[in-house]
Amino acid sequence: MASGGGNYRNGTHRNSLKGTTTTATDKPLSVNSNLSKPALKNKSLSSVGASSGLRKSSPGSLGGGTAKDDAGVPGRVRVAVRLRPHNAEESVADADFADCVELQPELKRLKLRKNNWDKDTYEFDEVLTEFASQKRVYEVVAKPVVESVLDGYNGTVMAYGQTGTGKTYTLGRLGEEDMADRGIMVRAMEDILADVSLESDSVSVSYLQLYMESLQDLLDPTNDNISIVEDPKSGDVSLPGATLVEIRDQQSFLELLRLGEAHRYAANTKLNTESSRSHALLMVHVKRSVKGREPAHSSENGNSTNIAKSLRPPLVRKGKLVVVDLAGSERIDKSGSEGHTLEEAKSINLSLSALGKCINALAENSAHVPVRDSKLTRLLRDSFGGSARTSLVITIGPSPRHRGETASTIMFGQRAMKVENMLKLKEEFDYKSLARRLDIQLDKMIMEHERKQKAFEDEIERITADAQNQISEAERNYADSMEKERLKYQKDYMESIKKLEEKWMLNQQKQGGERKEHMVFTAEEVAEVKKLLSKETSLRKAAEEEVNNLKSQLAQLKISEASANSEILKLRKMLEDEAYQKEKLEGEISMLQSQLLQLSFEADETRRRLDRGGPGKVPGGLDSLISQVRPQLNESGNGEKASIAKLFEQVGLQKILSLLEAEDADVRIHAVKVVANLAAEETNQQKIVEAGGLTSLLVLLGSSEDETIHRVAAGAIANLAMNETNQELIMSQGGISLLSMTAANAEDPQTLRMVAGAIANLCGNDKLQTKLRGEGGIKALLGMVKCGHPDVLAQVARGIANFAKCESRASTQGSKTGRSLLIEDGALPWIVQNAHNDASPIRRHIELAICHLAQHEVNAKDMISGGALRELVRISRNCSREDIRTLAHRTLTSSPTFLAELRRLRIDY
Ligand code: ADP
Ligand code: MG
Repeated sequence: MASGGGNYRNGTHRNSLKGTTTTATDKPLSVNSNLSKPALKNKSLSSVGASSGLRKSSPGSLGGGTAKDDAGVPGRVRVAVRLRPHNAEESVADADFADCVELQPELKRLKLRKNNWDKDTYEFDEVLTEFASQKRVYEVVAKPVVESVLDGYNGTVMAYGQTGTGKTYTLGRLGEEDMADRGIMVRAMEDILADVSLESDSVSVSYLQLYMESLQDLLDPTNDNISIVEDPKSGDVSLPGATLVEIRDQQSFLELLRLGEAHRYAANTKLNTESSRSHALLMVHVKRSVKGREPAHSSENGNSTNIAKSLRPPLVRKGKLVVVDLAGSERIDKSGSEGHTLEEAKSINLSLSALGKCINALAENSAHVPVRDSKLTRLLRDSFGGSARTSLVITIGPSPRHRGETASTIMFGQRAMKVENMLKLKEEFDYKSLARRLDIQLDKMIMEHERKQKAFEDEIERITADAQNQISEAERNYADSMEKERLKYQKDYMESIKKLEEKWMLNQQKQGGERKEHMVFTAEEVAEVKKLLSKETSLRKAAEEEVNNLKSQLAQLKISEASANSEILKLRKMLEDEAYQKEKLEGEISMLQSQLLQLSFEADETRRRLDRGGPGKVPGGLDSLISQVRPQLNESGNGEKASIAKLFEQVGLQKILSLLEAEDADVRIHAVKVVANLAAEETNQQKIVEAGGLTSLLVLLGSSEDETIHRVAAGAIANLAMNETNQELIMSQGGISLLSMTAANAEDPQTLRMVAGAIANLCGNDKLQTKLRGEGGIKALLGMVKCGHPDVLAQVARGIANFAKCESRASTQGSKTGRSLLIEDGALPWIVQNAHNDASPIRRHIELAICHLAQHEVNAKDMISGGALRELVRISRNCSREDIRTLAHRTLTSSPTFLAELRRLRIDY
């Protein structure tokens, strides 16, 4: 509870004045003509704002104080004193005595007579004489409070005084007989109703009586124990159990007051007490919406854009005016003379004495204010030391007989003047009304929705019905037209039948004679139809058969699909075999091509030799053999050929041959030379052999120790060895051994060249391969290479190439198996060594030999380890003769062993 001294603008009071003599101010009581003015001014300012309105309260009003902050405005409890006129009894009884009080209203002072010569002076906020009108009392005491309530503050107007001094007169007069008698309650309500808007504001009233700490509802007498509820936060008290009647006009309020008064009377009769023993409380709740904050029902017009605005709760100010007609302040006789027990007396006085104690405590700034001691103080906690604007009117009578009570009343009023309140605006957001408004809005929307839904459903129903009608009409139309059509066709049909019958009848009548014929025609037709039918039937049967056939074929196909698959596999295998065969054949072809090459090579040589017809300069060829013989014959000049031929004719071949065995060495040499010369001519060769010349030459090789004879004889044998028959002859007569032996003893490279040439020729014979090798032919050839003469080497190379060619052919034909005999006899190192010999005749033969050897897988390993593969690769890349290059390439690529080796060596091929 706020309390303490304030900045009072009205009335210097306090006890300091007590006992002072103010005779100068002892003037006759008069009505202050200014008293009504401040109230009017205050009213005009009330709409400006609570604080400013309060600040501008005039000195004549009970309102006032200075605004400090928003938390509240100091507002002291204002106290007025009212003196009742003498009543009839007093006029008589006190006629000889002076009044106990003397008023100085203009000074707002009251003098209380102590005795005939002494008075105490008291100052009040207002001093109202016995002549003060009800209107003036209202304006001075209550009006500022009412205005505060209308501005949103709580307000209290209370009357305190001895019974019979006019509390009820001041507060509760209804003024039914005389308008001027209307008391504060009636006038306050008049002002309130005049100020509020019945549309946006509300005024409601409760009327209660407090007796012996029991709160009774004067508007509903059955409700006789109403509890007080305090809001712990705001400290506001409320009486939820009390009847709250909304007031919309003055008349209904007056009725309510009357009703309350009647109930109060009845209740007091029932309780066997007087109204003076109870406190009456009128509570007026004024709720006002603050203009400018109220959305003014816009949302209720269905304006949805204002929904957000409408969700803002309206701001309201709630003022509560409490008018309290207290019980008589006189002390109840504790002796029980009035029929009360002591306990009852205590209880009756409890609230009032508690009020006195609280006011004392507040006046003295005591730390403890015993508000909770009684129901009255609990109810009035806001009125004294709280946030309400409070105006107290103390009523006194003039009779000196009641001087003591009057003095006590005055003292009560004096203390009350010290109580300081802190006025607070009761402004809040009205969530309830917002909720109500939203409820209304919601209800409207629900209604609207329902209406729309209904309209929608009706529309759907209508459309459905329409559709239904249309459907049934369409169905009807359809059925009708169907029926019409049916009837029409039936009619047509019947008519056609009728017409046909008529026609038939007519025909029968007309063509009676033709009937038989007609019948026949009909029979023909039937037959035709039957034929067609049977044809159709057979066709159908055929089709059925076909279908069955296809079905079984399909089944067959499915069965054969599996076998077809295996067939495919088989075929694939066959295909692979074919591919293998093809590869093999290709190998053979390449080999044949190489043989052809060899043959063409040899043919070339032969041709060259024949073309030259004399000693050539090219070493290594057979022509050179002849050249060795010729010089001896050239002695007779150009006629040489002719002379030999002449000799041949004159002497005869037998004679010449016999000379080969002559005693004389020179003769033998000459003879050999002659035979050799003859053997160089192809035409003579057969004759020489037939005459035993070859045998003689061979014998000579073995028997003679003369190197010239050896050389010339070997040359002759070499020439004769070009013929296949001669080759066999040479072999059968141990030619290889003789030639080998000759080679072994020879010192002249030309001798070796002749011997090597002879063996090389023999090497070209397919049939003699094994025998030749078996008799050391290959070894003999290889033995001659150590002389190093290129002519000899060329012959050796030719022999090896010939041998390799024949071997290759034999292998391809299957008559030879196993690796090459050349390799067996150790020819490979020399072959490899001379594969890139600078002399092209040597190199060519060796290249060919390598190609032949390479064509057979059986030789591959030896060739790889002997380094021949490297040579083969080189040949395939660098050989200047394209045919040999191609042969080498094909040979390489058709050998899996070579390819594997190349891959291993990471040689790209
Ligand atoms: P209280 O309520 O204090 O007991 P009342 O209001 O009942 O006193 O007044 C007692 C009597 O005095 C009533 O008959 C009333 O009409 C009369 N009375 C009181 N005050 C005045 C007044 N100011 N002028 C004329 N009559 C008065
Ligand atoms: Mg009364």
